[in-house]
Amino acid sequence: MDRQQREYRSDGARVFRMVVRIDIYVADWNFMNRSGSMDVAEAFDNGGNEPTFVPASEASIEMLEKVNVEFSTTCSVCMEEIRIDSEATRMPCLHIFDEDCIVEWLHKSRFCPVCRFSMPADGDQ
Ligand SMILES: [Zn+2]
Ligand SMILES: [Zn+2]
Repeated sequence: MDRQQREYRSDGARVFRMVVRIDIYVADWNFMNRSGSMDVAEAFDNGGNEPTFVPASEASIEMLEKVNVEFSTTCSVCMEEIRIDSEATRMPCLHIFDEDCIVEWLHKSRFCPVCRFSMPADGDQ
């Protein structure tokens, strides 16, 4: 017991090694290029030290509008065509995505993949 405690104290500087994996989702590379610099920093800026993407709140995801697609467009998450007359999900910024794609996206990032419209997040005042 005594010996164990001493060993612990003498080992004052302990190294905790962590492997952190950060996935950065670039859905619309043209947009990224147009904006000049990758504004990933903005997504990281949560006022703290840890780079995290803030997910949209569950309530805001549930309230997304379902629309009937009237003109063919491209889902900027999976880059697949969304066909006319199919059902898609529209964000408040009026960008349209496959439902599965945008729901998955918003669980990772509150920002619209096209225009970075910011969805409400838990913890917003
Ligand atoms: Zn999609
Ligand atoms: Zn948008």
